[in-house]
Amino acid sequence: MNQNLNIAAFNSREIVSRLAEDIKSLSADMAPLKLMHICGGHENAIVRHALRQFLPAHIQVIAGPGCPVCICPVEAIDEAITLAQQPNTTVLTFGDILRVPATKTSLEEVRAKGGRVKVVYSPVDAIKIAQQEPQQTFVFFSVGFETTAAGIAGLIRSGVPENLFFLIANRYIPPVLKLLMDVHDESLQGFLLAGHAGTITGLEVYDFMRDEYRLPCAAAGFEPVDILLAIRKLLTLIKNNQHDVINCYRRVMKNTGNKIGQQCLSEVFALEPGTWRGIGAVDNSAYQLKDKYAHLDARKQFNCKPSYPPQSFHPGCLCHRVMLGEVEPQDCKLFKKVCTPGKPFGPCMVSAEGTCHVRYNYSEIKINLS
Ligand code: SF4
Repeated sequence: MNQNLNIAAFNSREIVSRLAEDIKSLSADMAPLKLMHICGGHENAIVRHALRQFLPAHIQVIAGPGCPVCICPVEAIDEAITLAQQPNTTVLTFGDILRVPATKTSLEEVRAKGGRVKVVYSPVDAIKIAQQEPQQTFVFFSVGFETTAAGIAGLIRSGVPENLFFLIANRYIPPVLKLLMDVHDESLQGFLLAGHAGTITGLEVYDFMRDEYRLPCAAAGFEPVDILLAIRKLLTLIKNNQHDVINCYRRVMKNTGNKIGQQCLSEVFALEPGTWRGIGAVDNSAYQLKDKYAHLDARKQFNCKPSYPPQSFHPGCLCHRVMLGEVEPQDCKLFKKVCTPGKPFGPCMVSAEGTCHVRYNYSEIKINLS
C-alpha cells in the first residue's frame, strides 16, 4: 500500500479519457453484457462523475443491493420504533435510517412525537452518551455491512457501559451474490466489489464466484479512475474467459483483509439467515450477537416486537426491483413525482447511497471530454 499516492491522479480527466478509450476498443467486438456493483458508494460515484457516459452502450453497469440503509429489513426498523416508544429508553442510530419509511411510521416521525431517538455519528458516540446518563437505557440500532459490523464488534469486545444494548441489523455481503446469480440471466458477467468492505474481509470470501459460478469479480475504490480501472479489468477477464477475483484497490485493501477486524467479527457475531429488505432471506448473511454477548442483545433483553405485521413497501414502490438491478428508478411511476428525497416513499430514496436518491440528485450531469 502506498500511503503517499496523490488522490488527484484518481480523478484525472486525462486518465479517465484514456481508460474510456481502452474500454471502448477492448469491448468493440464483445456481445452486450452487464456488470453489477453492490455498493451504494459506487453508484454515487458513477452517477456523480457521469461515468456511464464513458461506457459503450452495450456495456451496462447496473446497481445491486449495495445500500445498507435500503436493505435494512423493515422488521428491524419496526423494532427500533417499538423500543423508542418505551419509557426511559433511547434509541441511538445513524442519521440516514431515521427517515426510512417503516411499516407504519419512521424513527423521525416517532422522534417528532416525543419518542426518544438520537442521531450519533459513530458507535463511540453511543458509548459516551450512555456513560453520561447511567440511569437511562440506551439501544444502539446498528445498520451497515462488514465495515460497520467490525467496528461494533471491536467496541463490544473492549467492553461497553451496562446501560447500552445493541439492536443489530448488520448484513454480510458475499452470500447475496449467490441470490443475484439466481435472479439474473447470463448477460450478467461480472461484479464490482466494494473496496471498503473488502478492507475487512479480504477477497477470499468471494472465491466461490470463481469456483462455483465462473464469474470474474474486481474490488474497486471510489474515485473515477478506480472504477474505470476495475471495469477495464473485468472486461479483460471476460474477454479472455478468465474468472478471477481481483484486487483493483491495492492502495487501500490487502487481499487478506484486516485480520484484527476479522477476529473481532468472529468473536462477537455469528452469521445466520437474515432478511434483506426487498430481497428476502439470504443464508449466512445476518450478523447476530453470539450467546456470550446475549446480555447486550436488545432483542433478548427487551420486548421490541411490534404489535403489527411488517409491510416492506408502499404500494407502487419498485425499490425491491431497483435493489435487485431489475429496473431503473425511472421505471417507478412514483420517482420524482411523489417520491423525492424530501418525502421518500421507499428506502432507496433516503440515503446518499440509495439508487433512487442518487439518480434524483445527479440525473442531469453530463460531461464533455473533448
Ligand atoms: Fe421506491 Fe421511490 Fe424509488 Fe419508487 S422512486 S422505487 S417509490 S424509492
